[in-house]
Amino acid sequence: MDVDTLLAEAWIRALAAAVEKEHGRLTELDSAIGDGDHGSNLRRGFTAVLAALDAPAPAGPGAVLTRTGTTLISKVGGASGPLYGKAFRAIGAALPQPGEAPADAAGLGEALAAGLRAVRELGKAEPGDKTIVDAWTPALDAYRAAVAAGAGLPEAAAAAAAGAERGALDTVPLQARKGRASYLGPRSVGHQDPGATSTALLFRALAEAAGNR
Ligand code: ADP
Ligand code: MG
Repeated sequence: MDVDTLLAEAWIRALAAAVEKEHGRLTELDSAIGDGDHGSNLRRGFTAVLAALDAPAPAGPGAVLTRTGTTLISKVGGASGPLYGKAFRAIGAALPQPGEAPADAAGLGEALAAGLRAVRELGKAEPGDKTIVDAWTPALDAYRAAVAAGAGLPEAAAAAAAGAERGALDTVPLQARKGRASYLGPRSVGHQDPGATSTALLFRALAEAAGNR
């Protein structure tokens, strides 16, 4: 399976639907160790992303993801807006441009790696700091391992989603060292990180979009 415009759009629309469904849970998690706005931040962002994808449709999968990122940066005030925004812009930039051969499963892996690099460059978080990085890192590792073992894109995306979900759960015992939750010090222990949880939605949405093709 290649990464075409339909797949990119289906991914972002599935993610917007997941945010719409799960925003209450994301906000609840952020109420425990942050300021209780993660769900509403992403909901506002993805409502704007859906409008941006309709008017007029971007040409090529890279443009879909770049526009998603640009919209998130402009609409989401919290830490997560610029982080996800830069990540999607990096994914979009890493994908082939119109007229070039489309990305295959390995090419999408490169783009997902560029997304993680963008998050880490901007946020300076290391694995174990209880952030988005703690879900994205195991997702990428699982994706790459699946591709290396011969899996196609849908199977690799499903492995990535499982990796991200495991990574999000694994943030529970961690003490936050980045972002608002780090102000709580040891009191951030025992709660699942909201951003790692939304990153699990991001990879689950990719797996759904790829699986439905
Ligand atoms: P804010 O913290 O500004 O209210 P959100 O509530 O939307 O923004 O997002 C909070 C999430 O952002 C956290 O749960 C964490 O996963 C993520 N986050 C915060 N700082 C960083 C960082 N430096 N690097 C990666 N992720 C981060
Ligand atoms: Mg918050």
